Amino acid sequence: MEDQTAAETVRTIERYRRWLIPPEKRKRFWELSHCTLRDVNISNPFWTYCHNFTYGKRSEERNLKDEPAGWIYSSGLYEGYVRIPWDDTIEPQVSVPAKCVICKRETKEGIVVEHAGTKLGFCTNRHYVQWWKTIHEDASIETEHYESPEERYEDS
Ligand SMILES: [Zn+2]
Repeated sequence: MEDQTAAETVRTIERYRRWLIPPEKRKRFWELSHCTLRDVNISNPFWTYCHNFTYGKRSEERNLKDEPAGWIYSSGLYEGYVRIPWDDTIEPQVSVPAKCVICKRETKEGIVVEHAGTKLGFCTNRHYVQWWKTIHEDASIETEHYESPEERYEDS
């Protein structure tokens, strides 16, 4: 079985959004696609993660008394499935054109995050996380864990 590309994944999710959720349930679905702990809307609920999240019924009642545990994560650029932390409540946009603020590389499939009123671009999960670690402390998130630009762009 072949792995889905990021673009295919996005299309799959669109299909779910449009067809598999009946209209009367859609509104409810998007209400639930909101993180009540952090008061953040989750635009991509199938691909967003955090340590507070648990599966189960009665999702509207779970976690109400919890404190947020750690960061919200998204799926990063595909290099196998990896997760990248949000910039607090700001979701990084993945698989979008970007010019990397770290290495200046331009790519059609990069990461962009809006930070302090500026859109910052990154060529790879690694350079995004490298930047992220300049403003957030978390020793458990290691840049070396992610693919380097040299590995990702070996053909260019
Ligand atoms: Zn870069």
